[in-house]
Amino acid sequence: MSDHPAQGGPKCPICGRPTMAATRPFCSRRCADADLVRWVNGAYRIPVADDEAEQAPGSDGTEAHGLIPRIP
Ligand SMILES: [Zn+2]
Repeated sequence: MSDHPAQGGPKCPICGRPTMAATRPFCSRRCADADLVRWVNGAYRIPVADDEAEQAPGSDGTEAHGLIPRIP
């Protein structure tokens, strides 16, 4: 219990250190950058996978189905 912080304020979500007013809600710019990279990577992966999985079967199936009876 000797590690008790003087101010029980918010902590950095990256490393758990007390946050600084200039870099809230992170303790430093390094952690803010790390969180941004994490967020960008996560946001980039979710929509790409969701869009491809939803567009591939619908667009492919509709086009193939409409082309087949048109070419006889
Ligand atoms: Zn931090």
